[in-house]
Amino acid sequence: MTGTTDLRRLAERAGRELEDAPASDILSWAADTFGARFCVTSSMEDAVVAHLASRVRPGVDVLFLDTGYHFPETIGTRDAVAAVMDVNVVTLTPERSVAEQDAEHGPALHDRDPDLCCALRKVAPLANGLVDYDAWATGLRRDESPTRANTPVVGWDERRGKVKIAPVARWTQDDVDRYVAEHGVLTNPLLMDGYASVGCAPCTSRVAAGEDARVGRWAGRAKTECGLHG
Ligand code: SF4
Repeated sequence: MTGTTDLRRLAERAGRELEDAPASDILSWAADTFGARFCVTSSMEDAVVAHLASRVRPGVDVLFLDTGYHFPETIGTRDAVAAVMDVNVVTLTPERSVAEQDAEHGPALHDRDPDLCCALRKVAPLANGLVDYDAWATGLRRDESPTRANTPVVGWDERRGKVKIAPVARWTQDDVDRYVAEHGVLTNPLLMDGYASVGCAPCTSRVAAGEDARVGRWAGRAKTECGLHG
């Protein structure tokens, strides 16, 4: 692929041209343009984007950040996705185990300094994991929160110098639910147990019916995003 300036121009043009395109067309463009240098990231809340991507690029790399703090159900979803879907699940891990982090920073860093905890356990491992790719796709949706309302379907990830693709940016939760039902897509069982958005166990709680999905993330703390998408 070309240099950073060319990639940025490519992303900006594609963002304009694909704004109204179906998610599958956006992913087809990504697969055709970047080939093996394109990947999907998944939190294993559901496997919708991985499923969409596998249909246009069988065997596509699906990156999963194993922070060491996941619910067993999330790890189980990852394993099920790897077992039954035509994707290559790549698990990224932080430099230090939870025990090593506790020894260096004290226990429960997520309660005292969640920004540092996310930086060590999410942001840094993803940066390392994306080194061999020019483009990555996420499941970000504009309706998830005000901070995501302007998410482009294809944009430029300034921090990492990558093309960032959000093929379901324009989808609603109903669109996700419909796709899951139509295609029998794997979802995290916690979504049926009161959790509307699934992250690390210490930082994720159930939400009341009708509450905003992301209210259950870092509840009671002045934090709404992990720093992966800033
Ligand atoms: Fe740490 Fe919580 Fe961030 Fe997970 S979500 S990396 S436990 S602060």
